Amino acid sequence: MKKIAIIGCTGSIGRQTLEVVRANPGRFEVVALAAGRNRAALSALAEEFHPKYTALAQDGAPMPEEAYAESDVVVVAASGFAGLCYALEAVRAGGRVALANKESLVCGGELVLAEAERCGAELIPVDSEHSAIFQALGMRRDAPFSKLILTASGGPFLHHTKKELARVTAAEALRHPTWKMGPKVTVDSATLLNKGYELIEAHHLYGAPYEKLSAIVHPESVVHSIVCFEDGAALAQLGYPDMRVPIQLALTCPERLPCAPQLNFEKLAALHFERLPEEKFPCFGLALAAGKAGGTAPTVLNAAAEVAVGAFLEGGITFPRIAETIEGALSKIPREEAESYEALAAADRRARDCARRLVGVE
Ligand code: MG
Repeated sequence: MKKIAIIGCTGSIGRQTLEVVRANPGRFEVVALAAGRNRAALSALAEEFHPKYTALAQDGAPMPEEAYAESDVVVVAASGFAGLCYALEAVRAGGRVALANKESLVCGGELVLAEAERCGAELIPVDSEHSAIFQALGMRRDAPFSKLILTASGGPFLHHTKKELARVTAAEALRHPTWKMGPKVTVDSATLLNKGYELIEAHHLYGAPYEKLSAIVHPESVVHSIVCFEDGAALAQLGYPDMRVPIQLALTCPERLPCAPQLNFEKLAALHFERLPEEKFPCFGLALAAGKAGGTAPTVLNAAAEVAVGAFLEGGITFPRIAETIEGALSKIPREEAESYEALAAADRRARDCARRLVGVE
């Protein structure tokens, strides 16, 4: 029985991780469950899975260190910047960490990778794109390649004009064409900020310089990403969009277990690829620029985005103002070195204050 801890068990990835556990009786033992605020949901899951440890972030009760130490795999699926400290705790326990929290690598990539190396932790990506790259590299993160191409569904507004983009609503942004995800990441997919984040994550996970990274629109979300090699060969991983596949693989790899239906290639009429229209979606370029700048810049980007997306979801600002808020915060807050979690947390607070002023909620 593989012992697993799930940090962020009530969110989209956490719940799908528990679906994988349910679907494989006798394979996994849930040792620890942590949630943010949803007490009722955490209690219900604790009743079903009988974990030795539970923690609710809202109560200020941290997950004890033993919970990480006793787990074979820690799934870090908490959302937002808060996920970074769980990722660091999980990595310091020195076991396998199935990483689904994007901010851990976007904001804390340098720190998390250095700590993983120091503590001998094994980082396995859960995000579909990074899992696809991991698979195409032979389930390694250190294999050579010449280029990584991340696929993007393009989100619900891919073919909108700039004028139409100015009028889209939160409800429309939450209607993702292919993936079912939490609200923040769904809006980040609509602005293409999410794809910028994923390039930063790939940079850290695979040691890829930014000139070897690109994104391409692939509306069907069947090709989950592509690795190109020196000799002209390219390997891709394909499957129906179903997060349970990369989640389960992160728990069991290198072993593969039954999980989702096989692609039906005869019914798959066609696969399409097109250029990513960066000029219409400034969040993508802002993310890349912050990733290249490094240090605290991605943390500022992320904090401003969390505030701006929150305001957009409440109807407080328009869609284009998400990018404007991020740009404003990046231009106002100077980049510093990301030496410690505290340095990042300070940049995060400063950027949130700045972004709150920019969106007009203080
Ligand atoms: Mg993704």
